[in-house]
Amino acid sequence: MLKRFIKKYLADWNRGEIMEHFDFDKLHEECGVVGIYAPNYDNVSQMACFSLIALQHRGQESAGIAVKNGDNRVQYYKEMGLVQEVFNTKILDRLKGHVGIGHVRYSTTGESYVSNAQPLVVQYRGGSIALAHNGNLVNADGLRERLEDMGSIFQTSIDSEVIANLIARHYRLGFKNAIIESVKTISGSFALVIMCDDKLIGVRDPFGLRPLCIGELPEGGYVLASESCALDVVGAKFVRDVDKGEIVIIDENGIESIFYDETEKKALCSFEYVYFARPDSAIDGQSVYMARRQAGRILAKEHPVDADLVVAVPDSGIAAAIGYAEESGIPYAVGLIKNKYMGRTFIQPDQKSRELAVRLKLNVLKENIEGKRLVLIDDSIVRGTTSKRIVDMLKEAGATEVHVRVSSPPVKHSCYFGIDTPSSKQLVGAVNTIDEICEMIHADSLGYISTGGLVESIGLNGQDLCKACFNGDYPMEVPKFGNKYVFEKI
Ligand code: SF4
Repeated sequence: MLKRFIKKYLADWNRGEIMEHFDFDKLHEECGVVGIYAPNYDNVSQMACFSLIALQHRGQESAGIAVKNGDNRVQYYKEMGLVQEVFNTKILDRLKGHVGIGHVRYSTTGESYVSNAQPLVVQYRGGSIALAHNGNLVNADGLRERLEDMGSIFQTSIDSEVIANLIARHYRLGFKNAIIESVKTISGSFALVIMCDDKLIGVRDPFGLRPLCIGELPEGGYVLASESCALDVVGAKFVRDVDKGEIVIIDENGIESIFYDETEKKALCSFEYVYFARPDSAIDGQSVYMARRQAGRILAKEHPVDADLVVAVPDSGIAAAIGYAEESGIPYAVGLIKNKYMGRTFIQPDQKSRELAVRLKLNVLKENIEGKRLVLIDDSIVRGTTSKRIVDMLKEAGATEVHVRVSSPPVKHSCYFGIDTPSSKQLVGAVNTIDEICEMIHADSLGYISTGGLVESIGLNGQDLCKACFNGDYPMEVPKFGNKYVFEKI
């Protein structure tokens, strides 16, 4: 037990170091899922692949697709890497079927290897199940121990395997009731796509923490996806979001809807609108782009400043910067150019390499910013280290003042619902005042949007949004430590 804890601690510590260099002070989504039921199409794996490419921003560590054909065989392929690195025409041609699910995963822990990639495919008494999960179970450790006491053997260290195990254990109830009983047992955040008994099943957790939507294909059939941008890419028309506490079962009869939980409280992750989701997606009826732009407008009202130009930290700060410029009347200009092709290359954790990593990712457009007083819009500040480097770069390039404005409130608390957050001690907003952060990042002034302002920008009822990383008000009881099961790769 102690060994596991130490290993987990060290993995987290290393993750913090690596995150600092390459991921630029952001919280990170850990997964994206897609499911396709397409009886009239013979290229379901290719469609799944396209949808996964659209969801690549939700996870860049591994990708996988599982398909099922008429003779009940599940075929799958998963590997470490980006979707386009993992799949090619030859592999997709071998994955034949009319139902398929796919997954992209993000993880920076020591558990970064292919056995933890998804979809999970398991054989059980009733046949086979393939499952892909976006989210995090807060009661996975306890459930896993109970299952192990009953003789279950686990092949991975991910919480999603607990769900597959529970479904298999309930097989006598039939697949539908097995899934209902299983999802009633688990707690936490989950958007699941499951392939079972020739059907495609989607499940959203009782609080609706992680998004999941349904689209309809033009020649018949349906798509489930974490975000609506993954529907557009395969020509599917958005139908609706899967509701919180809802199971949808898709087969030749259409869509069957079952509500397995009557919890009144909803808690959709507000950070989906701040940073995680693609701006061309809509979640629970609200456009991500419009929410970000509106956040910029509100930020301009809450924290006005006298300046010459509004510039954004690309890409996720751009919509808010446009909103800030519209409201303030200060012109918007491109001040930073992002290198979109820089992958997660390893760079030594020394000061010089840190500077290099930021410069590799972002460069200043000197012509635009020289001699100017800038408002720099970022969507969030997590550790603060990258913000300081960006402010320094802008000033070195000739900006006379840099006023930082942030379109989310200070991140003060860890997330337990599938988002990779550093410990509270590493969150700059948790241990410093705004004035202290301003000084640390070398800004001339600093302003964060208020929590009320963020809620207003999203346009949903504040009671229906999770804001726990800002205010510590978690929608459910959370464990003190995360998943303690860490496998040692040799
Ligand atoms: S704690 Fe923050 S990141 Fe996590 S689900 Fe809630 S709003 Fe999203």
